[in-house]
Amino acid sequence: MTKIQSSAFLGDLLMKVKARDPQEAEFHQSIAEVFSSILPVLEVHSEYVSSGILERLVEPERVLMFRVPWVDDAGHVQVNRGYRIEMNSAVGPYKGGLRFHPSVSIGILKFLAFEQVFKNALTTLQMGGGKGGADFDPKGKTDGEVMRFCQSFMTELARHIGPNTDIPGGDIGVGGREIGYLFGQYRRIRNQFNGVLTGKALNWGGSLLRPEATGYGCVYFAREMLAAHSDQLDGKTCLVSGSGNVAQYTLEKLVHLGAKPVTVSDSQGFIYDADGIDQEKIEWIMELKNNRRARISQYVEKFPKAEYVAADPRLPYNPLWSIRADCAFPCATQNEIAAEDATQLIENGIVLVCEGSNMPTTPDAVRIIIEASVLYGPAKAANAGGVATSGLEMAQNRLGLSWARSDIDAQLQAVMKSIHETCYFTAERYGSPNNLLAGANIAAFVRVADAMLDQGVI
Ligand code: NDP
Repeated sequence: MTKIQSSAFLGDLLMKVKARDPQEAEFHQSIAEVFSSILPVLEVHSEYVSSGILERLVEPERVLMFRVPWVDDAGHVQVNRGYRIEMNSAVGPYKGGLRFHPSVSIGILKFLAFEQVFKNALTTLQMGGGKGGADFDPKGKTDGEVMRFCQSFMTELARHIGPNTDIPGGDIGVGGREIGYLFGQYRRIRNQFNGVLTGKALNWGGSLLRPEATGYGCVYFAREMLAAHSDQLDGKTCLVSGSGNVAQYTLEKLVHLGAKPVTVSDSQGFIYDADGIDQEKIEWIMELKNNRRARISQYVEKFPKAEYVAADPRLPYNPLWSIRADCAFPCATQNEIAAEDATQLIENGIVLVCEGSNMPTTPDAVRIIIEASVLYGPAKAANAGGVATSGLEMAQNRLGLSWARSDIDAQLQAVMKSIHETCYFTAERYGSPNNLLAGANIAAFVRVADAMLDQGVI
């Protein structure tokens, strides 16, 4: 196919997807991003088009939606909506997290599941892609309420998942506490103790380093990005957004590698600590967010030299990204770096943007960053350390063994290095040197598309 024919084909397909489900903007955004990278592949591999690979990739293999009734502490019946998107299982059973957040919808989960297919393919492990969750907000709920919600959610989900079928894990709003309640109910209903969920606690099948893996992996990826340009993290000032799982361990690994993180945030505002957020402060943040489940604004009460800036939803930009720094690590949520933020980062001399959260950078912002030759680490590559370590948790569960922390850390570093090399050399081979987004999309697409070709039209 010529470039013009491929481009017209992808444009038409995206229009059809939009016409079919017009309200799924984030899903359309994630498809458009992948399509923008794979033109050079279709030019030489027209079989992907003639076999309907693209049409099948953008349609989930299965979408589950179900009622989740539960009783709150006041005795009132509450009803939430639960989902599981089983997107693609060509290279392995569905694998991807569960998100509990009021913004959860089919469109958000289809975007996350679509991204997950490519991310998992990059790890080279046998994991297809899926994602799920509910529009339930664990914030402000008691442990008892969260437990009853999780039990009701799993009562339905249990019939659709299994250690060789679909293996959910955590995401926003789903941490160790929620995974525990979900696993307990699965075990009770199915009368089986197996590796159906990842992110489990250590004493009942979890893996060392799984909580740390996404954040650590993201920083290891950034280290590779800089090393490819004879640079290093040591001494770099870094912006980090979010204060949940991914942000906490991104902060920690940055400190381990000699960098100086100066920001942290939650949905209500951000902290700027010009002295740097060191290990002692990180441990305080972990206690605040994981045990006390309180707001990041309290940081300034404990460390009064820092500043707190409340979020202002009327602004078209996020002032966190206007602080002068060398590297940026968005670790909160999707579309948190807009075009205005990207321009500001570049004006302030940023050298690297490495994504811990999924699709944190809007398409315009990505274009601005890449055109300015700032190093850009796309989420599906940079945050794949979490799911790669979930793959290691699944392997340990199958074997009935627990591997040492040092072994898992060595494997995590090797996976991130290998993903970076794959993206770097694939980008070069397909005519987009240094464009890791193109490299990630092409390498992952080819792996999944080849598996689909081998397995026939299903
Ligand atoms: P957590 O729930 O632990 O933390 C999420 C953080 O982001 C919190 O600080 C939260 O603030 C903030 N946040 C959430 N929504 C918004 C919003 N709309 N605006 C501003 N801030 C917001 O989630 P994780 O750390 O696990 O996940 C963060 C990101 O990383 C997500 O994009 C997730 O998909 C991605 N990811 C996570 C992986 C994992 O292993 N956990 C693996 C790969 C990707 P508040 O407390 O106020 O809600």
